[in-house]
Amino acid sequence: MNLTYTSTRGHGETVTASQAILKGLADDGGLFVPTSLPKLEVSVEKLAGMSYQEVAYEVMKLFLTDFTEEELKRCIANAYDSKFDTEVIAPLVQADGAYFLELFHGNTIAFKDMALSILPHLMTTAAKKNHVDNEIVILTATSGDTGKAAMAGFADVPGTRIIVFYPKDGVSPVQEKQMVTQKGDNTFVVGIKGNFDDAQTGVKKMFNDQKLAKELDGAGFQFSSANSINIGRLVPQIVYYVYAYATLVKNEQIKNGELINITVPTGNFGNILAAYYAKLIGLPIDKLICASNTNKVLFDFFTTGTYDKKREFTVTSSPSMDILISSNLERLIYRIAGNDAEKNAAMMQALSGEGEYTITEEMKAGLTDFYGNYADEKETAEAIKNLYENTGYVIDTHTAVAASVYKKYVADTKDAKPTVIASTASPYKFARSVMTAIDKKYDALDEFELVDELVKLSNTPEPEAVKEIRTAPVRHNNICAVDAMEATVKQWLGIQ
Ligand SMILES: *Cc1c(COP(=O)(O)O)cnc(C)c1O
Repeated sequence: MNLTYTSTRGHGETVTASQAILKGLADDGGLFVPTSLPKLEVSVEKLAGMSYQEVAYEVMKLFLTDFTEEELKRCIANAYDSKFDTEVIAPLVQADGAYFLELFHGNTIAFKDMALSILPHLMTTAAKKNHVDNEIVILTATSGDTGKAAMAGFADVPGTRIIVFYPKDGVSPVQEKQMVTQKGDNTFVVGIKGNFDDAQTGVKKMFNDQKLAKELDGAGFQFSSANSINIGRLVPQIVYYVYAYATLVKNEQIKNGELINITVPTGNFGNILAAYYAKLIGLPIDKLICASNTNKVLFDFFTTGTYDKKREFTVTSSPSMDILISSNLERLIYRIAGNDAEKNAAMMQALSGEGEYTITEEMKAGLTDFYGNYADEKETAEAIKNLYENTGYVIDTHTAVAASVYKKYVADTKDAKPTVIASTASPYKFARSVMTAIDKKYDALDEFELVDELVKLSNTPEPEAVKEIRTAPVRHNNICAVDAMEATVKQWLGIQ
């Protein structure tokens, strides 16, 4: 069967999976969604006997139907290899009545590695398939984390280059060190004399510049994006939910067919949407518990049916969830609108115009799969401290938001189904917030002393990603003015 994709704002035009991956966003500004939903073909018993890579193939082949078996298996093998510090890729850890699905064993010790490890391979395969001979140039603006994860994924992947712009004075010292030490001759990092918005605006301008696109094409290049709305990032994220379920069955922690809940610390709504897709293809999932931090737009949306971005933006200890526009929610809106692109487009237009939209009563009925709640800064810190004191297990701030919200869910509903909590970052990545949540005294230590203490406290080895920044030489030392971004790109690509 050939699965095609259509835009959430379009008129029914379809593209293949590989075209959707190359394009990222539809021309009308909509997101690509599958025109029909496949069903898992293999039994859970079979999945339970499979490796992560084998499960990945079984899931991804359902969505990326124009990739051959050989192509898909090669992409998977190149992505989920020794870059991960555990053979199982995504381990499940039982603690305090829940199962933590650790998605942070890749290059940059956060869950974005799960998708960004494979996206470059999917993209170069998609380019070949569509007879694109140009070298793919990934252009990214980052506020810290995504840029590093994207570079780590694309580093040394033949046929690709990646350029990352970050606000020179707007990222943490550790984040900057991680980026400027990036290896790979095809990677290029530039600090701009401006803020994240300037970086984002500059990148968008280059994407939409037809004249620049022509110049690039003449020199054998074309831009692409590694943005989280790309289906090449969404599909690989469905895999680990299927793998987690199979692991629970294999370990006899649940019976085959038993319903489970999934709790996801949410920002852009990509990770939880992948869990929803896992449910839609037949995985026995009951509730999808959407956990927000103080920026609780999604909690308000699930409670009232109104999505309202007009509010104060708060910087929290879970920065990857500090988001007021959850882009991937559009795919859910489209679905609960009955796959009505016109209705969806009107709501998205209201969001960019008036800053809010309200769904209909009928659409609200489509949200019963979801439960939303949030945890504030105090509750997040308490979740880290309590879990550590009760079990010895240490979680990061994002995962702690989810753990806290899961407790609220159980208190609200008395639902005791087995629950998987997506654990999206290693505590080492947010060592200061994690350690001071456990004991304020740690605030006196510097970054690496904190890491040393965390090793002792959690009884886990220091991740390679942290060791690297202690010693790795700086490889990038580029700074440019906001209005020189285009010239910088051209210079690096060797265009006049
Ligand atoms: C990106 C990120 C999230 C949010 O995931 P979304 O798919 O954007 O909802 C949560 N935690 C961490 C650590 C992240 O990096």
